Amino acid sequence: MARDLAQSTLERFRKRLEEEQERLEGMVRDIEAEREEVRLTETSSDRSPDPNTAEGGSLAFEMEKELSLWQNAQDILAKIEEAVARIEDGTYGICDECGNAIPVARLDALPYTKLCVDCSANRR
Ligand SMILES: [Zn+2]
Repeated sequence: MARDLAQSTLERFRKRLEEEQERLEGMVRDIEAEREEVRLTETSSDRSPDPNTAEGGSLAFEMEKELSLWQNAQDILAKIEEAVARIEDGTYGICDECGNAIPVARLDALPYTKLCVDCSANRR
């Protein structure tokens, strides 16, 4: 069963996915560059952040926060890649779980989703 989406609609989603992919890749690069800088600073001096001091604690917190941003971005990038592949093979917009069509409104909000609202709610 193929989702009955107009070619122009698919192209619109593909473009949005590509834009999002670019944005996330830029973010991942920024985070990696920053972490590398912190790592170099740490190894070149012996002032590694001590989590028991306020300064070290907040730096550790910052790095923790960035790591979760980085992981989140990687997750979404993987989903975007999958979504683009699904556009290619004509299964884009079909729920991976129940096989029903995902409403365009939902795809508009989350272009990389592969679950309909119901299935996505059931997964939580
Ligand atoms: Zn579903």
